[in-house]
Amino acid sequence: MRTLTYPTSRRQFLELTALAAAGCFLPRRLFAAAESPVITMRRAAATAKITVQKFRGNVSVLEGSGGNIAVLTGHDGKLLVDAGITASRPALTKALADISSDPVRYLINTHWHFDHTDGNEWLHSIGAQITAHENTRKHLSQSTRVDGWNFTFPPSPEGALPTKIFQKEQKLHINGAALALQYYSPAHTDSDISVHFADADILHVGDTCWNGYYPFIDYSTGGSIDGAIRAAEANVARVTDKTIIIPGHGPVANKSQLVEFRDMLVAIREKVSALKKQGLSLAEVVAAKPTAEYDVKWGGFVINGSTFTALVYAGVG
Ligand SMILES: [Zn+2]
Repeated sequence: MRTLTYPTSRRQFLELTALAAAGCFLPRRLFAAAESPVITMRRAAATAKITVQKFRGNVSVLEGSGGNIAVLTGHDGKLLVDAGITASRPALTKALADISSDPVRYLINTHWHFDHTDGNEWLHSIGAQITAHENTRKHLSQSTRVDGWNFTFPPSPEGALPTKIFQKEQKLHINGAALALQYYSPAHTDSDISVHFADADILHVGDTCWNGYYPFIDYSTGGSIDGAIRAAEANVARVTDKTIIIPGHGPVANKSQLVEFRDMLVAIREKVSALKKQGLSLAEVVAAKPTAEYDVKWGGFVINGSTFTALVYAGVG
């Protein structure tokens, strides 16, 4: 994932300033000149290496195909949290077989985005029952546009749709483990849930945390910077120093990294909001580089400082 050929910060900044000069200040236009990250990430997934880390409570984490995948093994069969990208099926199949011979029986989607649900159809075809928030099913059921990715997803095939849906929370008991699924309210999208493996105290927070990276915020399906901050606050409040946290992207995290992520979101929101309140345009705010002191640490993945500034600008008064 770190070898993506997504535009460099300089190239993207030049596109941004060119668009801004042309008077196109809407975030949807920021990506218009570049290849959609959906296409880039799907291509990268075909050759992506999958790493497997084993944690307590028979929970493993597979990293490398879209969002991080949690796997719980046992006599009831494997339960997966998130499905990765379809092109990684051969590598994921091998990684899953290396963990255990238990068949895949359950899949939970943390939210509707393709890098967490693309593999739904093949995982369902080998026996997985799919659970998700009702808005995940809604977005997958119909044609859905994401302006920030300059991409319109067609309706997903029937087999890819979650069949067990919920609104607020759902409890599961699988492989002797208690799982609590909880809706965040709109955050990164309007479909985000957390999955807590209660006995092992392992929390999958989906894309409400990108550990070490600026996150994408999907305004097209109900996300916002303020919702993202609320979710980040909720994550910090509910974990302890012992909790193992699985972010949507980036390495497995601890509480102090959740705090750092939350603090970064809050600080950049304040900076961008203050500049916007002075009447500065998006291009002027980007030129002021409100993320400068954060870019080395957080700007190394799909979202660079300029793009993140635009995502925050779109959601502040
Ligand atoms: Zn996402």
